[in-house]
Amino acid sequence: MSVESSRYDIRSLIERYAGIKVVNVAMVHGVKEYHSNCPWCGGTDRFITRPETGRYSCAVRSTGCGRYGDGFDFLIEYALLSRQEALKELGIEDGTRTFVPPPPSHQYDKNAPPSPKWQESGWLLVEYAEKALWNTPKARRCSTICALAA
Ligand SMILES: [Zn+2]
Repeated sequence: MSVESSRYDIRSLIERYAGIKVVNVAMVHGVKEYHSNCPWCGGTDRFITRPETGRYSCAVRSTGCGRYGDGFDFLIEYALLSRQEALKELGIEDGTRTFVPPPPSHQYDKNAPPSPKWQESGWLLVEYAEKALWNTPKARRCSTICALAA
């Protein structure tokens, strides 16, 4: 992901939405890290934000939920903003970011059956259409004749 990190501060962005509490600041390989609780899975210091790189991650000492990303990812996954809203929030003009396609499980598979909810409303529609069809004057006459013929 390549949102321009210089244009926003990942730590204050997350603090604004999640109320995280920074308990430790460290320099790791020359990059400043802020350790805090994780907006998703809690803890006290498992969540790391690095304002210089504009990224966050949750996986200190293999505890934590393993989430990572940048401000854009955070706004989508935690604040549940749309892509447009997230870009606006970060002050990034629409179209300056290359979107990463959703993972395969979220992609439309034309060979898979539709969702149960879709199927349910589909069957309701079929039932309704059948009843409506048999309720026309022509159909009523036909069904009487057919019943006599049987
Ligand atoms: Zn976490």
